[in-house]
Amino acid sequence: MNFFCFPNILLRTVIVVFLINVSFYSSANPLVSAEETAQESNNASVATDSNDILNSKEPLPVNDRILSLLALVQEEPKNSSPKIEDLLLQLEEISATFNAAEHYLIFLIHGLIAHNSHQNEQAITWLKKTLDLLDKIPAKQLDLPEFSKANFIFAKSFAALGDFKKAFEYKKKYIQGGYRYFDETRIEKIEELNDIYETDHKIRQNELLENQNKIKRLKIIAAENKQFTQQRNIIILVITIIVFIILLSRQMKVRQKLKYLAKTDSLTHLYNRRTLFEKGAEAVELAKNEKQNLSVILLDVDFFKNINDNYGHDIGDEIIKIIAELGSETMRSRDLFARLGGEEFAGILPGVGCDEAKAIAERLREKVANKDLSEFNIKQKLTVSIGVACLDQVDTSFDDLLNAADIAMYFAKANGRNLVCQFNDQTKNNID
Ligand code: GH3
Ligand code: MG
Ligand code: MG
Repeated sequence: MNFFCFPNILLRTVIVVFLINVSFYSSANPLVSAEETAQESNNASVATDSNDILNSKEPLPVNDRILSLLALVQEEPKNSSPKIEDLLLQLEEISATFNAAEHYLIFLIHGLIAHNSHQNEQAITWLKKTLDLLDKIPAKQLDLPEFSKANFIFAKSFAALGDFKKAFEYKKKYIQGGYRYFDETRIEKIEELNDIYETDHKIRQNELLENQNKIKRLKIIAAENKQFTQQRNIIILVITIIVFIILLSRQMKVRQKLKYLAKTDSLTHLYNRRTLFEKGAEAVELAKNEKQNLSVILLDVDFFKNINDNYGHDIGDEIIKIIAELGSETMRSRDLFARLGGEEFAGILPGVGCDEAKAIAERLREKVANKDLSEFNIKQKLTVSIGVACLDQVDTSFDDLLNAADIAMYFAKANGRNLVCQFNDQTKNNID
């Protein structure tokens, strides 16, 4: 069985891992000047203290040119090209600046070139130089495919020389290094993936939380807006209702005022002529329906013109107001006392017969005649003439009844004034 046929999958895996890892280092242009290379190498090497590096897990820095050359030698295994030799020369000029890892790889390159040229003894000589550097390079770095390659070339060279025991030994080392590297890489990759996953997961969780917060904020704003709109609408509605109620009540007050003004006399606040006729007609109708009595009295101030002429129109008005007060207080609650116009008043007395009406009128006449007018400084005596008519005698309409009372009142005037006269045929005839 050929020792280098890699019959099992594990060996193949190690080779694949090795090839992939060549890309671990960048492939820079190997044709730069020796000075530049030396400078870079120097910078890299000077900055590192060998003990520190060995103690740390970090690999020693390796000049890109060395890695490029190693790759080139592996790509062209058959013949050592002038380009390779030229590059090797350039690197060796700056070898004083190399660290252990870089020396290791230079020895490996020499070993590879020799092995590729079937000078296996020379190859082993070069490769043995790497053994002196093993304790100066971190173990982890030695497991890298480009470093563990030395064991592989060792094995191949020993095998070519027929020393299979040594070849097996180095091959075993090579495979073991490959396993370690594979495990290491796998663990690192898993950790890296875990980190990426965890970070990614946390970022997504944060995004989710942020979005949830945004949604919550938007919901709160929407709820606040809705509440605000509802409150605003309620306020507008309440204001509208209040304004409507105010306007309505004002309107009603104005209407009531207008109604009141239309019904009443502005000087005395008694019902006016129009209302008197309305109420009078209703009262006559009611009295007729209920077959009850009803009387009407009509009052006219005697010689009122004289009061106006002697004491002025204002005093005249005050006298009219006094008559209104006296008339109102003499009436019962169900009676109605109204101003017909000028200094004429009328009273409607439902349920009252002629005699009782005459008595009421008589009381009123007396009240007026006895009224103290000293506050107005009036020397003239204030008297009224009152005519009385009742439904017993005039069973037609309110107009007729009032007209009858008017006739009776004129009868009182004709008979000396300050009198109460009841309508009857005699009064009628006398007037006529
Ligand atoms: P008689 O006894 O015959 O009734 O005499 P008189 O002077 O009262 O005569 P008459 O009834 O004709 O006169 C009424 C007067 O009342 C005429 C008018 O100037 C006056 N008068 C009418 N309305 C008012 C009013 O609202 N205020 C005042 N001060 N005088 C009025
Ligand atoms: Mg008159
Ligand atoms: Mg008069």
